Amino acid sequence: MMRTRDSASCEGIASARDPLYAALRELFGFSAFRPYQEEIIRAIMEQRDAFVVMPTGGGKSLCYQLPAHLMPGVCLVISPLISLMKDQVDAAKASGLRADFLNSSQTGKARAEVAARLAEGQLDLLYASPERFAMPDFKAALDAVPLSFVAIDEAHCISEWGHDFRPDYLNLAEIVERFPRTPIAAFTATATLKVQQDIINKLGLRRPFRVRASFNRPNLYYRVLHKTDAEGQILKFIRSHAGEQGIVYRTTRKDVESTASLLASHGIKALPYHAGMDDGARTLHQEAFNRDEVEVIVATIAFGMGIDKSNVRFVVHGDLPKNIEGYYQETGRAGRDGEPAQCLLLFGRSDIGRIRYFIDQVTDEEARSHALHCMNDMVRYGSTHGCRRRHLLAYFGETYGEPDCGMCDVCAGTVEKMDATRDAQIALSAIVRTGGRFGIRHIIDVLTGANTRKIRDLAHDQIKTFGAGRDKAKQHWRSVIEHLLAQGYAHQTTDRYPVIRPAERARSVLHGDARVSILKPVEPVTTRRARGAYIACNEALFTELRMVRKRVADEQGVPPFVILSDRSLREMAARYPVTPAAMGLIQGVGAHKLKRYGALFAEAVQSFLERNPEVEPDPHSSEVEGSRPLRRNPSCHLTGELLDQGLPVSEIAARRGLAAGTIAGHIEQLMEAGHPVDIDRLMEPDRRRQIEDLFEGTSSPQLKDIVDRSEDGAVSYAEARLVRAWLANCTG
Ligand code: ADP
Ligand code: ZN
Repeated sequence: MMRTRDSASCEGIASARDPLYAALRELFGFSAFRPYQEEIIRAIMEQRDAFVVMPTGGGKSLCYQLPAHLMPGVCLVISPLISLMKDQVDAAKASGLRADFLNSSQTGKARAEVAARLAEGQLDLLYASPERFAMPDFKAALDAVPLSFVAIDEAHCISEWGHDFRPDYLNLAEIVERFPRTPIAAFTATATLKVQQDIINKLGLRRPFRVRASFNRPNLYYRVLHKTDAEGQILKFIRSHAGEQGIVYRTTRKDVESTASLLASHGIKALPYHAGMDDGARTLHQEAFNRDEVEVIVATIAFGMGIDKSNVRFVVHGDLPKNIEGYYQETGRAGRDGEPAQCLLLFGRSDIGRIRYFIDQVTDEEARSHALHCMNDMVRYGSTHGCRRRHLLAYFGETYGEPDCGMCDVCAGTVEKMDATRDAQIALSAIVRTGGRFGIRHIIDVLTGANTRKIRDLAHDQIKTFGAGRDKAKQHWRSVIEHLLAQGYAHQTTDRYPVIRPAERARSVLHGDARVSILKPVEPVTTRRARGAYIACNEALFTELRMVRKRVADEQGVPPFVILSDRSLREMAARYPVTPAAMGLIQGVGAHKLKRYGALFAEAVQSFLERNPEVEPDPHSSEVEGSRPLRRNPSCHLTGELLDQGLPVSEIAARRGLAAGTIAGHIEQLMEAGHPVDIDRLMEPDRRRQIEDLFEGTSSPQLKDIVDRSEDGAVSYAEARLVRAWLANCTG
């Protein structure tokens, strides 16, 4: 996603001494902000309230941690889960922030220590739960210290319209009254526009700086598979992802237990998690997953909020979720580190009946109709014809502009489209001829010529379409009708006994003016994995670095991802940093982490290189090399933005902590994609002409040849790459 920067932030980016950028580099080891982070931070620092919807993995925590560090006073962070707080605080501390938490899991002594640090002004960040905020003692302690601002995580929990309502959150409405001069920044990863307004109202935010970042998670691959034998399909999927970690969601505790033991009996390290287990066992299982000790957690939706792990590589739903918001949030736990991850949904018609059964128990009319709507949305997602990503984004009110996302089963062609116009006509005709007053089951009975009492009583065996679909299974007709619903040729009422009515546009199908197709999921011969989008790196070294990380994490009693992300390790395994300077350029290695862990990882790289002399680290090796199209490479986009601001290659490289060669690679991809690039701004025209001469007479020029041809290697790989790209793409 491209964004335009206002002039204030342009100035910001231009000044290397900008405290925002200095802190970004120093604390977090990043050299560019993710979309919106800078604007949000500046708003908070200007004492404005902020309301931020940003998808999981978008980088919300940095938006409050960084200003908490820069602003005087302490930032109160409201976070819903006690189990998560310690990890959040450990991660903040690992970056060199002065953070702590107060909650009921601590001993009285530990709490007193934190309270003392708070009173002495030794904290940048204090994490607490909404329950704690309700305690008078706690509020009194806050009164006594300067508060920089209040950050509210998972802010959607305050809304009854959301799917995660927590009554304790309603306490937070008191913040504005009690601390009228303290800015409030509310963050959430999931909120429809209705929920968004509700949050703003309930918290009493004052003309907040609003950000609604794209819900698009470009690194997630969405896939729906027709559910036949859930456990067998799950096993098969996980086997094709050996060595990766992920979550399997099942609806019932019984299924959780049985799937977990099936996986375990096949040698997969899997553990169950559900609300029926005792707290101790649950925590143990979650911890084991957090610490990379098990591969798979099989869980009910009780599992999730406590999961901050960034390297979850897949999320499988073995059953149909109740609503899209929940589904989006659960799948959102995959790939927080930005690396590719898979989201698989097993979709079977039988699940609809199961959910309906529960919905029918709901006595409140409005609530039942809402639940039914939600389920229908989910069913539509499962049977959609178009891009799954577009469908999800549309649910959140966002339009996805690309014609094809390339990262869902529909776009990637692992489902087959079949023409079903004739069947659609038959089904619609049955719906119309029975007066649009019957439910799906009766329509199917009519189509298949069933001999039921209802049919006899209503004389529906007399209508023309009676038995017209006898040659096909009921299951098939159910699928056809679901598709008609999904494509808006018919709709289903939302009362207790929903009936199917033809829509206006059904006419075009009945008259033969429109064609209808349905999707038939086909199991791909090989599971498609978005491998190409990983940072290409030396996998053996990556594995060794992971072991080093695990050792350090265990020594410190924190989860591995708190030490460094998978992404940082992959980058090390691609760039082989052995000096502190090179290590400091790896994304995610800030000053604090460099000091603490830099030498350790540099030694591991060095030792690897010594043991593997055949490995030749290429100083120009690119960060993300591969043939994936530009629009799927956010890294290229960032380079493009800086390029558009007129920065030279060396400066972009320094800002982004990447090699000049990598930046040149991005520019090459940008040029190939038709992005306008002013070569004369990047390189003196004379210099360019000299290098152009070196290309004379080469048909498929290798960069190495050009560098070798230049006198004493005076031409760098980066320059050679830029000129080659220019020659290949210039039209003038
Ligand atoms: P969220 O809370 O929105 O789900 P996090 O704050 O956990 O997301 O951030 C997700 C990941 O993105 C983390 O690994 C974090 O280190 C990384 N990240 C955040 N900001 C940046 C940035 N400016 N550049 C690179 N990585 C970033
Ligand atoms: Zn798609």
